[in-house]
Amino acid sequence: MKILVINAGSSSLKYQLIDMETEAVLAKGTCERIGISGGKLTHKAGSKTVEIEKELPNHTEAIALVLKQLVDKETGVISSMDEIDAVGHRVVASGEAFTKTTLVTDEVMKTMDEIAELAPLHNPAAILGINACRAVMPEKQMALVFDTSFHATMPDYAHLYAVDYEDYKAYKVRRYGAHGTSHKFVSGEAARYLKRDPEELKIITCHLGNGSSISAVKGGKCIDTSMGFTPLAGVPMGTRSGDIDVAAIEFLCRKKGMSMEEGLTYLNKKCGMLGVSGVSSDFRDLTAAEKEGNYRAGLALKMFAYSCKKYVGAYMAALGGLDCIVFTAGVGENTPSVRKAVLEGLEAFGIALDEEKNLQKNDGSVHDISAKNSKVKILVIPTNEELVIARETAALTSDK
Ligand code: ADP
Repeated sequence: MKILVINAGSSSLKYQLIDMETEAVLAKGTCERIGISGGKLTHKAGSKTVEIEKELPNHTEAIALVLKQLVDKETGVISSMDEIDAVGHRVVASGEAFTKTTLVTDEVMKTMDEIAELAPLHNPAAILGINACRAVMPEKQMALVFDTSFHATMPDYAHLYAVDYEDYKAYKVRRYGAHGTSHKFVSGEAARYLKRDPEELKIITCHLGNGSSISAVKGGKCIDTSMGFTPLAGVPMGTRSGDIDVAAIEFLCRKKGMSMEEGLTYLNKKCGMLGVSGVSSDFRDLTAAEKEGNYRAGLALKMFAYSCKKYVGAYMAALGGLDCIVFTAGVGENTPSVRKAVLEGLEAFGIALDEEKNLQKNDGSVHDISAKNSKVKILVIPTNEELVIARETAALTSDK
C-alpha cells in the first residue's frame, strides 16, 4: 500500500509518497511560490533530486506537477497513479468538529469551511490543497489528519479557559493544542523503546522547534498541552511570545498605536527568541551569540529553558509522577545545551541527565540520554509527522 502525504501551505505544498509495507519514503518534495511568480518544484527520489522551475498559478497546477514527477520515467517511483492507494492531508485545526482522522466527503469539506476561521493562517491553505487533490484525483480516498486530534482527550478542566461558560459553548473558545501528530508519534516510540505498555506510562513530550509545545501523556492519551486556542500560547518560541498577560497586550497596543490585529502579528512574528535577543529566532544563532557573550541572546535562551522547566514541573504534578521525558523537533533533537538547561535542577524529582550522552550527535534513532541513576528515562526521539499521517490514512482507508 502506498500513501501520498500532503502538507499544503498558502504558497507552498510539501509531499511524501510512503510505502506502508516498509514505511520507507519513496519520494518527497516541495512546491514553492504557488500563486506568485517564480514557481518551483524540488523533487527527491532516492539519491536523485530534480528542480523544475515552472509557474504554479494555483494548488491544482502544483499537485498536477507533483503527480507528473511521481510517474515520470526518469525521476518517478511509480508506474501509474493507480499505485497511490490513498492521500493523507495534514490539517492544523479541527476545532471540536473533528476529534480523529476523518475521510474526506462533501459534507466534511463543508464543515472544514465553517471552522477555517479557527486557524486563518493554516486551514484555508489546507482546504486549497485538499480541493486541488480532489480535482486531480477524484477517485482517490482521502483522509484529514488533524494536528489537534491527539489533544482531543484532554479533560474539560484542562482544556477550558476560565471565561463565561456560555461563551465557550457559543464560540468554542478553549485550548486545542498543536503538534499533536508529533506528540503522538514520539510518545508511542518512547513506549516501544522502553518495551512498556503505553497504558502504564506517564510521559512528558517536549516538541521544541521554531514553534514549541509540551504535552503530558498518560496511558497513551494527552491530558494537557502548552499551546492553546492557537499556537501562540505556551513557552516562548522563535518569534512567538508564548504565554503573556492579555492586559499587557492591550497596554502595548495602546502605547505603540497598534490595532488588535497588528498586536497579534507583533506577538506572533516579532517576539519570542527574536524579540528578546534582537539577534535571531534560530537557536543555532542564539547559542553562537551567547558563546560570544551576547547578554540578550543568553537571556532569551534562559527564558526558554525556564519556561520549559516550569511546564515539566507542572505536568509532573498533573500526571502524578513521571516515567519518561522525550525531546524532539529541530531544537529538541539537536541542541544539547537547551536540553541540559531545561533539566538542570530537577534531580530531586528523579531526573538525571548523562551529560556525555547528551552531547553525542543523534543518529536518527532513539537516543537515551538519562544517567544510570535517573528514575525518569530521558530520550531524544526524531519526530516523523508524515509517517503518522500516512499510518492514520492507511488505517482508515484500507478497511473501506
Ligand atoms: P518548525 O517548528 O519550523 O518545524 P524545526 O523543528 O525545524 O522548526 O526547528 C527549527 C529550530 O531548530 C531552529 O531554531 C534551529 O536552530 C534548530 N535546528 C534545526 N536543525 C538543527 C540542527 N541540525 N542543529 C542545530 N539546531 C537545529
